[in-house]
Amino acid sequence: MAFPISRRQLAGALGATVGAAVLGPLADHVAEASLSRGQSTDLIQLNSNENPYGASPRALEALARSGGAASRYPDANEEEARDAIARHHGVAIDQVVLGAGSSDILRMADSAFLTAGKTVVAAGATFEAVLAYARVTKAEAVKVPLTADHRHDLPAMAARCDSRTGLVYVCNPNNPTGTVVHGDELDAFYPRVPRSAVILVDEAYHHFVESPKYRTAVDAIGKFPNVIVARTFSKIYGVAGMRLGYSISSTENAETLRSHASFSNVNASALAIAVASLADTGHVPQERKRLNDTRRWLCAELDRDGRTHMPSETNFVMIHVGRDVAPLIAQFRERKILVGRRFAPLPEWLRISIGTREETAAFLTALRTLVPA
Ligand code: PLP
Repeated sequence: MAFPISRRQLAGALGATVGAAVLGPLADHVAEASLSRGQSTDLIQLNSNENPYGASPRALEALARSGGAASRYPDANEEEARDAIARHHGVAIDQVVLGAGSSDILRMADSAFLTAGKTVVAAGATFEAVLAYARVTKAEAVKVPLTADHRHDLPAMAARCDSRTGLVYVCNPNNPTGTVVHGDELDAFYPRVPRSAVILVDEAYHHFVESPKYRTAVDAIGKFPNVIVARTFSKIYGVAGMRLGYSISSTENAETLRSHASFSNVNASALAIAVASLADTGHVPQERKRLNDTRRWLCAELDRDGRTHMPSETNFVMIHVGRDVAPLIAQFRERKILVGRRFAPLPEWLRISIGTREETAAFLTALRTLVPA
Protein backbone atom coordinates (compact mmCIF):
# COMPACT_ATOMS: atom_id res chain seq x y z
CA MET A 1 0.00 0.00 0.00
CA ALA A 2 1.32 3.42 -0.89
CA PHE A 3 2.36 5.84 1.83
CA PRO A 4 -0.71 8.10 1.96
CA ILE A 5 1.13 11.44 2.18
CA SER A 6 4.30 12.25 0.32
CA ARG A 7 7.32 13.98 1.84
CA ARG A 8 6.48 17.02 -0.27
CA GLN A 9 2.87 17.12 0.91
CA LEU A 10 4.04 16.72 4.46
CA ALA A 11 6.51 19.59 4.06
CA GLY A 12 3.77 21.82 2.72
CA ALA A 13 1.45 20.86 5.51
CA LEU A 14 4.01 21.43 8.24
CA GLY A 15 5.23 24.78 6.95
CA ALA A 16 8.79 25.81 6.26
CA THR A 17 10.11 26.35 9.79
CA VAL A 18 8.72 23.23 11.36
CA GLY A 19 9.30 21.27 8.19
CA ALA A 20 12.99 21.98 8.17
CA ALA A 21 13.38 20.78 11.74
CA VAL A 22 11.34 17.64 11.65
CA LEU A 23 10.66 16.67 8.08
CA GLY A 24 13.59 14.40 7.38
CA PRO A 25 13.40 12.10 10.36
CA LEU A 26 9.65 12.50 10.75
CA ALA A 27 8.77 11.66 7.16
CA ASP A 28 11.06 8.66 7.28
CA HIS A 29 9.62 7.59 10.58
CA VAL A 30 6.02 8.01 9.49
CA ALA A 31 6.61 6.34 6.13
CA GLU A 32 8.25 3.43 7.84
CA ALA A 33 5.51 3.18 10.45
CA SER A 34 2.90 3.32 7.74
CA LEU A 35 4.62 0.54 5.88
CA SER A 36 5.07 -1.77 8.81
CA ARG A 37 1.75 -1.86 10.60
CA GLY A 38 2.13 -5.48 11.44
CA GLN A 39 1.05 -6.32 7.92
CA SER A 40 2.85 -6.86 4.69
CA THR A 41 3.17 -3.54 2.87
CA ASP A 42 1.21 -4.42 -0.25
CA LEU A 43 -2.05 -5.12 1.55
CA ILE A 44 -5.02 -2.80 1.25
CA GLN A 45 -6.36 -2.60 4.79
CA LEU A 46 -10.10 -2.08 4.81
CA ASN A 47 -10.77 -4.18 7.90
CA SER A 48 -10.47 -1.99 10.99
CA ASN A 49 -12.25 1.29 10.20
CA GLU A 50 -9.10 3.36 10.48
CA ASN A 51 -8.49 6.62 8.66
CA PRO A 52 -6.24 5.74 5.68
CA TYR A 53 -4.98 9.31 5.43
CA GLY A 54 -3.64 9.29 8.98
CA ALA A 55 -3.18 12.05 11.51
CA SER A 56 -3.20 15.80 11.07
CA PRO A 57 0.24 17.23 10.22
CA ARG A 58 0.08 19.19 13.48
CA ALA A 59 -0.44 15.95 15.38
CA LEU A 60 2.54 14.39 13.60
CA GLU A 61 4.59 17.43 14.47
CA ALA A 62 3.58 17.02 18.14
CA LEU A 63 4.55 13.37 17.91
CA ALA A 64 7.97 14.29 16.56
CA ARG A 65 8.49 16.78 19.38
CA SER A 66 7.26 14.47 22.13
CA GLY A 67 10.50 12.51 22.39
CA GLY A 68 11.79 14.95 24.97
CA ALA A 69 9.05 13.84 27.36
CA ALA A 70 10.06 10.21 27.18
CA SER A 71 12.07 10.13 30.41
CA ARG A 72 9.32 11.54 32.65
CA TYR A 73 5.99 10.16 33.83
CA PRO A 74 3.31 11.97 31.87
CA ASP A 75 1.36 13.60 34.74
CA ALA A 76 1.57 17.14 33.37
CA ASN A 77 0.78 15.96 29.82
CA GLU A 78 -2.22 14.10 31.17
CA GLU A 79 -3.53 17.24 32.84
CA GLU A 80 -3.03 19.22 29.63
CA ALA A 81 -4.81 16.61 27.49
CA ARG A 82 -7.73 16.25 29.90
CA ASP A 83 -8.04 20.02 30.01
CA ALA A 84 -8.06 20.24 26.19
CA ILE A 85 -10.69 17.49 25.97
CA ALA A 86 -12.81 19.12 28.69
CA ARG A 87 -12.70 22.47 26.91
CA HIS A 88 -13.52 20.77 23.61
CA HIS A 89 -16.72 19.37 25.14
CA GLY A 90 -17.53 22.25 27.49
CA VAL A 91 -17.32 20.04 30.59
CA ALA A 92 -15.19 20.10 33.75
CA ILE A 93 -11.79 18.45 33.67
CA ASP A 94 -12.91 16.08 36.45
CA GLN A 95 -15.45 14.60 34.07
CA VAL A 96 -12.75 13.36 31.69
CA VAL A 97 -11.06 9.96 32.02
CA LEU A 98 -8.29 8.92 29.63
CA GLY A 99 -7.83 5.45 28.23
CA ALA A 100 -5.30 3.62 26.09
CA GLY A 101 -7.84 3.65 23.28
CA SER A 102 -11.55 3.79 24.02
CA SER A 103 -11.39 0.00 24.39
CA ASP A 104 -9.60 0.73 27.65
CA ILE A 105 -12.54 2.89 28.75
CA LEU A 106 -14.94 0.06 27.88
CA ARG A 107 -12.82 -2.34 29.92
CA MET A 108 -12.77 0.06 32.89
CA ALA A 109 -16.56 0.39 32.71
CA ASP A 110 -16.99 -3.38 32.75
CA SER A 111 -14.58 -3.70 35.64
CA ALA A 112 -16.25 -0.88 37.58
CA PHE A 113 -19.92 -1.67 37.07
CA LEU A 114 -20.16 -5.44 36.54
CA THR A 115 -19.77 -8.44 38.83
CA ALA A 116 -21.12 -11.96 38.91
CA GLY A 117 -24.90 -11.74 39.25
CA LYS A 118 -25.09 -8.50 37.23
CA THR A 119 -26.14 -8.22 33.60
CA VAL A 120 -24.70 -6.28 30.67
CA VAL A 121 -27.27 -5.43 28.02
CA ALA A 122 -26.08 -4.86 24.44
CA ALA A 123 -27.37 -5.02 20.87
CA GLY A 124 -27.36 -8.32 19.03
CA ALA A 125 -24.73 -7.19 16.57
CA THR A 126 -22.45 -4.56 17.99
CA PHE A 127 -18.81 -3.84 18.81
CA GLU A 128 -17.87 -6.81 20.93
CA ALA A 129 -15.24 -5.42 23.31
CA VAL A 130 -17.69 -4.63 26.10
CA LEU A 131 -19.07 -8.18 26.04
CA ALA A 132 -15.59 -9.69 25.72
CA TYR A 133 -14.20 -7.79 28.71
CA ALA A 134 -17.38 -8.53 30.66
CA ARG A 135 -16.59 -12.25 30.60
CA VAL A 136 -13.85 -11.64 33.16
CA THR A 137 -16.39 -10.14 35.56
CA LYS A 138 -18.69 -13.19 35.19
CA ALA A 139 -21.61 -10.86 34.50
CA GLU A 140 -24.33 -12.26 32.26
CA ALA A 141 -24.56 -10.89 28.70
CA VAL A 142 -28.04 -10.02 27.48
CA LYS A 143 -28.08 -9.54 23.72
CA VAL A 144 -31.03 -7.76 22.18
CA PRO A 145 -31.52 -8.30 18.42
CA LEU A 146 -31.33 -5.30 16.13
CA THR A 147 -34.47 -3.88 14.53
CA ALA A 148 -35.41 -4.86 10.97
CA ASP A 149 -33.58 -1.74 9.77
CA HIS A 150 -30.40 -2.84 11.58
CA ARG A 151 -30.54 -0.33 14.42
CA HIS A 152 -30.47 -0.70 18.18
CA ASP A 153 -33.91 -1.66 19.47
CA LEU A 154 -33.83 0.78 22.37
CA PRO A 155 -37.33 0.00 23.75
CA ALA A 156 -36.47 -3.72 23.79
CA MET A 157 -33.10 -2.98 25.40
CA ALA A 158 -34.76 -0.86 28.11
CA ALA A 159 -37.23 -3.69 28.72
CA ARG A 160 -34.32 -6.06 29.41
CA CYS A 161 -32.81 -3.74 32.04
CA ASP A 162 -33.68 -4.46 35.66
CA SER A 163 -32.18 -4.16 39.14
CA ARG A 164 -29.45 -6.65 38.17
CA THR A 165 -28.26 -4.58 35.20
CA GLY A 166 -24.85 -3.03 35.75
CA LEU A 167 -24.28 -1.71 32.26
CA VAL A 168 -26.24 -1.12 29.09
CA TYR A 169 -24.07 -0.53 26.04
CA VAL A 170 -25.29 1.67 23.18
CA CYS A 171 -22.94 1.93 20.24
CA ASN A 172 -23.97 5.03 18.30
CA PRO A 173 -23.23 4.90 15.40
CA ASN A 174 -23.17 1.13 15.66
CA ASN A 175 -20.28 -1.02 14.56
CA PRO A 176 -20.68 -3.17 12.41
CA THR A 177 -23.93 -1.85 10.93
CA GLY A 178 -23.04 1.85 10.59
CA THR A 179 -26.57 2.81 11.65
CA VAL A 180 -27.57 5.40 14.25
CA VAL A 181 -30.22 5.76 16.90
CA HIS A 182 -31.84 9.18 16.99
CA GLY A 183 -31.64 11.82 19.69
CA ASP A 184 -35.33 11.60 20.50
CA GLU A 185 -35.12 7.80 20.72
CA LEU A 186 -32.31 8.15 23.26
CA ASP A 187 -34.30 10.78 25.16
CA ALA A 188 -37.10 8.25 25.55
CA PHE A 189 -34.62 5.50 26.48
CA TYR A 190 -32.65 7.18 29.29
CA PRO A 191 -35.52 7.48 31.80
CA ARG A 192 -36.62 3.90 31.11
CA VAL A 193 -33.26 2.49 32.31
CA PRO A 194 -32.97 2.09 36.10
CA ARG A 195 -30.70 4.76 37.59
CA SER A 196 -28.66 1.95 39.15
CA ALA A 197 -27.50 0.87 35.67
CA VAL A 198 -24.83 2.78 33.76
CA ILE A 199 -25.68 3.66 30.16
CA LEU A 200 -22.42 3.49 28.23
CA VAL A 201 -22.76 5.27 24.89
CA ASP A 202 -19.86 4.53 22.54
CA GLU A 203 -19.44 7.35 20.03
CA ALA A 204 -16.29 6.13 18.30
CA TYR A 205 -17.73 7.16 14.88
CA HIS A 206 -19.45 10.35 16.04
CA HIS A 207 -17.59 12.63 13.64
CA PHE A 208 -18.79 10.88 10.49
CA VAL A 209 -22.50 11.29 11.22
CA GLU A 210 -24.54 13.57 8.99
CA SER A 211 -28.07 12.57 10.01
CA PRO A 212 -29.80 15.57 11.61
CA LYS A 213 -31.67 13.13 13.86
CA TYR A 214 -28.46 12.07 15.63
CA ARG A 215 -27.36 13.78 18.86
CA THR A 216 -24.35 13.13 21.04
CA ALA A 217 -25.13 11.68 24.47
CA VAL A 218 -22.64 14.09 26.10
CA ASP A 219 -25.47 16.60 26.46
CA ALA A 220 -27.60 14.08 28.39
CA ILE A 221 -25.11 13.60 31.25
CA GLY A 222 -26.36 16.63 33.22
CA LYS A 223 -29.89 15.24 33.37
CA PHE A 224 -28.98 11.54 33.45
CA PRO A 225 -25.80 11.16 35.50
CA ASN A 226 -25.77 7.41 34.79
CA VAL A 227 -24.74 8.17 31.16
CA ILE A 228 -21.07 7.70 30.25
CA VAL A 229 -19.83 8.57 26.76
CA ALA A 230 -16.75 6.95 25.20
CA ARG A 231 -14.79 8.64 22.39
CA THR A 232 -11.62 7.72 20.54
CA PHE A 233 -8.75 9.27 18.59
CA SER A 234 -8.46 6.04 16.56
CA LYS A 235 -10.99 6.81 13.85
CA ILE A 236 -11.37 10.23 12.24
CA TYR A 237 -8.29 11.62 14.01
CA GLY A 238 -6.22 8.90 12.34
CA VAL A 239 -4.03 7.82 15.27
CA ALA A 240 -5.24 4.29 16.08
CA GLY A 241 -1.68 3.13 16.63
CA MET A 242 -1.11 5.64 19.41
CA ARG A 243 -3.94 4.20 21.54
CA LEU A 244 -5.90 7.09 22.96
CA GLY A 245 -9.52 7.35 23.97
CA TYR A 246 -11.49 8.99 26.74
CA SER A 247 -14.81 9.18 28.51
CA ILE A 248 -17.05 12.03 29.54
CA SER A 249 -19.32 11.35 32.49
CA SER A 250 -20.45 12.71 35.83
CA THR A 251 -17.56 13.51 38.14
CA GLU A 252 -18.61 10.64 40.37
CA ASN A 253 -18.60 8.07 37.57
CA ALA A 254 -15.30 9.48 36.33
CA GLU A 255 -13.78 8.84 39.75
CA THR A 256 -15.14 5.30 39.74
CA LEU A 257 -13.80 4.62 36.24
CA ARG A 258 -10.42 6.08 37.11
CA SER A 259 -10.12 3.77 40.10
CA HIS A 260 -10.18 0.89 37.58
CA ALA A 261 -7.46 2.38 35.35
CA SER A 262 -3.82 1.53 35.65
CA PHE A 263 -1.53 4.38 36.72
CA SER A 264 -0.34 6.59 33.85
CA ASN A 265 -2.20 4.45 31.34
CA VAL A 266 -1.62 6.82 28.40
CA ASN A 267 1.85 7.63 27.12
CA ALA A 268 3.27 11.12 26.64
CA SER A 269 3.32 10.96 22.83
CA ALA A 270 -0.34 9.99 22.63
CA LEU A 271 -1.22 12.83 25.00
CA ALA A 272 0.74 15.34 22.90
CA ILE A 273 -1.05 14.10 19.80
CA ALA A 274 -4.43 14.52 21.48
CA VAL A 275 -3.80 18.16 22.31
CA ALA A 276 -2.50 18.94 18.81
CA SER A 277 -5.32 17.01 17.12
CA LEU A 278 -7.97 18.97 18.97
CA ALA A 279 -6.19 22.25 18.23
CA ASP A 280 -6.17 21.50 14.48
CA THR A 281 -9.82 22.36 13.97
CA GLY A 282 -9.63 21.99 10.19
CA HIS A 283 -8.56 18.35 10.18
CA VAL A 284 -11.80 16.66 11.29
CA PRO A 285 -14.06 18.43 8.75
CA GLN A 286 -11.55 17.68 6.00
CA GLU A 287 -11.39 13.98 6.87
CA ARG A 288 -15.12 13.75 7.33
CA LYS A 289 -15.70 15.22 3.89
CA ARG A 290 -13.26 13.08 1.97
CA LEU A 291 -14.15 9.81 3.69
CA ASN A 292 -17.91 10.45 3.57
CA ASP A 293 -17.58 11.46 -0.11
CA THR A 294 -15.82 8.18 -0.86
CA ARG A 295 -18.47 6.26 1.08
CA ARG A 296 -21.21 7.99 -0.92
CA TRP A 297 -19.39 7.16 -4.15
CA LEU A 298 -19.06 3.50 -3.12
CA CYS A 299 -22.72 3.27 -2.09
CA ALA A 300 -23.81 4.82 -5.41
CA GLU A 301 -21.77 2.18 -7.26
CA LEU A 302 -23.29 -0.57 -5.09
CA ASP A 303 -26.75 0.82 -5.90
CA ARG A 304 -25.86 0.83 -9.60
CA ASP A 305 -25.00 -2.87 -9.27
CA GLY A 306 -28.32 -3.47 -7.50
CA ARG A 307 -26.59 -4.62 -4.29
CA THR A 308 -28.16 -4.30 -0.87
CA HIS A 309 -26.19 -2.35 1.72
CA MET A 310 -26.98 -0.81 5.08
CA PRO A 311 -27.35 2.97 5.32
CA SER A 312 -24.08 4.02 6.94
CA GLU A 313 -23.28 7.12 8.98
CA THR A 314 -19.68 5.98 9.41
CA ASN A 315 -16.45 5.20 7.57
CA PHE A 316 -17.55 1.65 6.82
CA VAL A 317 -20.40 -0.04 4.97
CA MET A 318 -22.13 -3.40 5.42
CA ILE A 319 -22.85 -5.05 2.08
CA HIS A 320 -25.15 -8.03 1.60
CA VAL A 321 -23.33 -10.68 -0.42
CA GLY A 322 -25.98 -13.42 -0.35
CA ARG A 323 -23.67 -16.12 1.01
CA ASP A 324 -21.51 -16.76 4.06
CA VAL A 325 -18.71 -14.20 4.10
CA ALA A 326 -16.03 -16.43 5.64
CA PRO A 327 -14.68 -17.88 2.34
CA LEU A 328 -15.09 -14.51 0.65
CA ILE A 329 -12.90 -12.82 3.26
CA ALA A 330 -10.17 -15.34 2.36
CA GLN A 331 -10.65 -14.65 -1.36
CA PHE A 332 -10.21 -10.92 -0.81
CA ARG A 333 -7.11 -11.72 1.23
CA GLU A 334 -5.68 -13.61 -1.75
CA ARG A 335 -6.16 -10.41 -3.73
CA LYS A 336 -4.30 -8.54 -0.99
CA ILE A 337 -7.39 -6.77 0.32
CA LEU A 338 -8.28 -7.08 3.99
CA VAL A 339 -12.00 -6.72 4.67
CA GLY A 340 -13.99 -6.83 7.90
CA ARG A 341 -14.45 -10.02 9.89
CA ARG A 342 -17.55 -12.19 9.96
CA PHE A 343 -20.16 -11.00 12.46
CA ALA A 344 -22.09 -13.97 13.82
CA PRO A 345 -25.65 -12.62 13.61
CA LEU A 346 -25.00 -11.21 10.12
CA PRO A 347 -23.14 -14.03 8.32
CA GLU A 348 -24.02 -12.85 4.80
CA TRP A 349 -22.91 -9.27 5.30
CA LEU A 350 -19.45 -8.00 4.44
CA ARG A 351 -18.10 -4.97 6.32
CA ILE A 352 -15.82 -2.78 4.30
CA SER A 353 -13.93 0.18 5.77
CA ILE A 354 -13.64 3.26 3.61
CA GLY A 355 -10.10 3.62 2.33
CA THR A 356 -8.61 6.16 -0.04
CA ARG A 357 -10.60 6.48 -3.26
CA GLU A 358 -8.07 4.22 -5.01
CA GLU A 359 -8.22 1.55 -2.29
CA THR A 360 -12.01 1.66 -2.26
CA ALA A 361 -12.10 1.37 -6.06
CA ALA A 362 -9.76 -1.64 -5.88
CA PHE A 363 -12.16 -3.27 -3.42
CA LEU A 364 -15.12 -2.60 -5.71
CA THR A 365 -13.32 -4.14 -8.69
CA ALA A 366 -12.52 -7.24 -6.64
CA LEU A 367 -16.10 -7.43 -5.33
CA ARG A 368 -17.46 -7.28 -8.88
CA THR A 369 -15.21 -10.19 -9.82
CA LEU A 370 -15.81 -12.32 -6.73
CA VAL A 371 -19.52 -11.60 -6.29
CA PRO A 372 -20.96 -10.60 -9.68
CA ALA A 373 -24.03 -8.41 -9.25
N1 PLP B 1 -15.74 1.42 19.85
C1 PLP B 1 -16.08 1.07 18.62
C2 PLP B 1 -17.52 1.15 18.23
C3 PLP B 1 -15.12 0.62 17.71
O1 PLP B 1 -15.49 0.24 16.49
C4 PLP B 1 -13.78 0.56 18.12
C5 PLP B 1 -12.73 0.09 17.21
O2 PLP B 1 -12.95 -0.40 16.14
C6 PLP B 1 -13.48 0.94 19.42
C7 PLP B 1 -14.48 1.37 20.26
C8 PLP B 1 -12.11 0.85 19.97
O3 PLP B 1 -11.28 1.78 19.47
P1 PLP B 1 -9.96 2.21 20.22
O4 PLP B 1 -9.70 1.27 21.34
O5 PLP B 1 -8.91 2.14 19.18
O6 PLP B 1 -10.24 3.59 20.69
